[in-house]
Amino acid sequence: MLCWNPTSCGILLESFFLTLSDILSFTENAHCAIIPAMSIYSDTLERQKEYFRSGSTLSCSFRKRMLRTLKETLKANEDRILEALAADLGKSPFEGYATELGIAYEEIGYLEKHLGKLMRKTRVSTPITQFKSKSYIIHEPLGNTLIMSPWNYPLQLTIVPLAGAIAGGNTAIVKPSRYSRNVSSLLKEILENAFPQEYIAVFEGGHETNTELLALRWDFIFFTGSPAVGRIVHRAANEHLTPCVLELGGKSPVIIDGSADIALTARRLAWGKFLNAGQTCVAPDYALVKEGMEKSLIEALDVEIKRMFTSSPLTSPDLPKIINRKHFDRVNGLIAGSEKALGGRSDDSTLRIEPTVLYPVKESDAVMQEEIFGPVLPILTYKTLDEAIDFIRSREKPLALYIFSRDKKAIGKVLSTLSFGGGCVNDTVVHLTASGLPFGGIGNSGMGSYHGRRSFETFTHDKSIMDKALYLDLPVRYAPFKGKLKLLKLLMR
Ligand code: NAD
Repeated sequence: MLCWNPTSCGILLESFFLTLSDILSFTENAHCAIIPAMSIYSDTLERQKEYFRSGSTLSCSFRKRMLRTLKETLKANEDRILEALAADLGKSPFEGYATELGIAYEEIGYLEKHLGKLMRKTRVSTPITQFKSKSYIIHEPLGNTLIMSPWNYPLQLTIVPLAGAIAGGNTAIVKPSRYSRNVSSLLKEILENAFPQEYIAVFEGGHETNTELLALRWDFIFFTGSPAVGRIVHRAANEHLTPCVLELGGKSPVIIDGSADIALTARRLAWGKFLNAGQTCVAPDYALVKEGMEKSLIEALDVEIKRMFTSSPLTSPDLPKIINRKHFDRVNGLIAGSEKALGGRSDDSTLRIEPTVLYPVKESDAVMQEEIFGPVLPILTYKTLDEAIDFIRSREKPLALYIFSRDKKAIGKVLSTLSFGGGCVNDTVVHLTASGLPFGGIGNSGMGSYHGRRSFETFTHDKSIMDKALYLDLPVRYAPFKGKLKLLKLLMR
């Protein structure tokens, strides 16, 4: 009802405020009267806080022992893990080992081997004005961490950050994805058998579990997933000013210029694109090819696809499946309106989609509007390298970028003008296997990084200390300042 009379409006407002204050006082009283029930999540976190405060996680020997336990647990359950990966994603044992277990073993091995050195405090120089003192950095644990992982590499993307958390001297609550349920429940079983829950706990679940976990107060959140959920996580972290790392995704381009070795390009491109049926965060999402080379690239891709997956890929044991029907329908929906140069068929009963190459493709096609996350490669052409660079620069900063070329100038130009998380020259995906290369995105593709030394740095805080000698106290900094400026100018130039 519209309130036009000032008197009746006042009465209405008054009664409104009375009601509202009544409600508020009731709510407050009610709040006082109710003792909030501890959820299993907050209860576990409280126990982890206590455990962390006890100092149990701090020593180098404890952390090394826990890293060894983690590795032994994986080794002891290797067959079950490979079976679970096959059940969730149709991964062959080779692919499961190469892209999940093998990477996890290498990361754990690196951290265990270098932990002593990484934990040592780092000496840095001290300005002459602070003579006599020493300056150093203590790499202290962050405390109680939350690790949220996606379904596409459900083992690797859970275990690698967890190894970082252990090496950093933290506790961890792990929340794997609901979609990869075989791996997630196996992870829960084996990790909770190997570690006490007050140190490492695993919670399965969906939206409600995520929301409840994110509402708690953590010392650090490590999230891997989509940019959309990344925003939700960042917002939740912001509530308590909790530091977080966001490992996100997006559309990662491949540039193939006129000097590229087409046969080798097709082989390495097909490998990176169709690995895990394209459900890889750093998979080449689309290819920008120098005009005139597209036909020979498609022919070479045809040869490679047949070589890897035979001429009937839908029955190949080496082609993984799409995680679930929702994503199967989504990927098929993305390609429905585009012209297929290769592949295009799918099997409803096994959720497999053939390696598919789309050409010609327009910028406005559905497949160019979102991260594909499936075995589909759109090919677009460009006339000049500047045109390709502008095309990429006008979009979100990608997680990965790949360039195939023999032209050092062109490679240099692409690497220096475009901003992206990381990438390869004349290959795809493999940059994430080098423990010396920090792995992470920029802007829409993420913030922060990990792997190897960077994992340790990510899961620790650099505490800066200046340690002053007692036997000397330079008087220059103290008032009165008369006659001291000249000396100060000499010291601070
Ligand atoms: P997702 O964002 O849907 O889910 C990731 C995690 O967030 C899961 O544990 C999920 O349970 C949880 N989650 C989902 N909805 C949520 C919500 N509303 N609130 C709180 N938590 C929620 O991602 P996904 O589909 O599992 O994985 C695919 C995406 O992840 C792609 O974009 C891919 O590029 C990206 N990814 C990035 C990396 C990387 O290392 N940068 C690795 C793998 C995948």
